[in-house]
Amino acid sequence: MAEGDVRSTVVPAGRGVAISVRHGEIVRLTNTYGSQVVDLWALGGEDPAEHSSMDHTRSKNSNIFFKTGMTVYSSERRAMLTMVEDRAGLCHDTLLCPCNAAIYRELGCKGAHRSCTGNFHEALERVGHTCPFTPASLNVFMNVPVQMDGTVDRVPPASMPGDYVRLRAEMDLTLVLSACPQDVTPINGAERQVRDVHVDIAPAAPGGVA
Ligand SMILES: [Zn+2]
Repeated sequence: MAEGDVRSTVVPAGRGVAISVRHGEIVRLTNTYGSQVVDLWALGGEDPAEHSSMDHTRSKNSNIFFKTGMTVYSSERRAMLTMVEDRAGLCHDTLLCPCNAAIYRELGCKGAHRSCTGNFHEALERVGHTCPFTPASLNVFMNVPVQMDGTVDRVPPASMPGDYVRLRAEMDLTLVLSACPQDVTPINGAERQVRDVHVDIAPAAPGGVA
């Protein structure tokens, strides 16, 4: 691949991928069908023990949502990813946990069900990393309105087909994305149909400007 090429990949419906991203590169995450939530994590490229932290992200941004202009911070309070554009202007969720086996048991699923937690660890293992626990995820496109009394709701994504967000890497990192396999509740749309999402990674802009 020539220097300067855009690298494109698909996160298959219900699956996870881990991608190496260099400082300054721009990750465009496209909600191809409009209805898919994507759980996102980042691990430091130099030190994979440094991980994206929703605690520090909310604290540094002084906000419980994630919106354009905000940055994902690490467990060391360092900048990892900044959302430089959101075509739909959404409030992305930072509060709810990534889905896991226990949630699907609660929902009455018999036997194994894929989960964002499983996807996180599976994707990391494919690129030679492990993580001894599951950090909280940034839930891109996940629509979790918060009421004045603190009540959280869970409703289908407000995005339309082709809506995208663009995130600038503020350090070298391993990006982990999970096209959430939740097909019991309508969090991935009223049809409860899990779908692919598309990822394009563009080279750093000259001068580092997105
Ligand atoms: Zn999930």
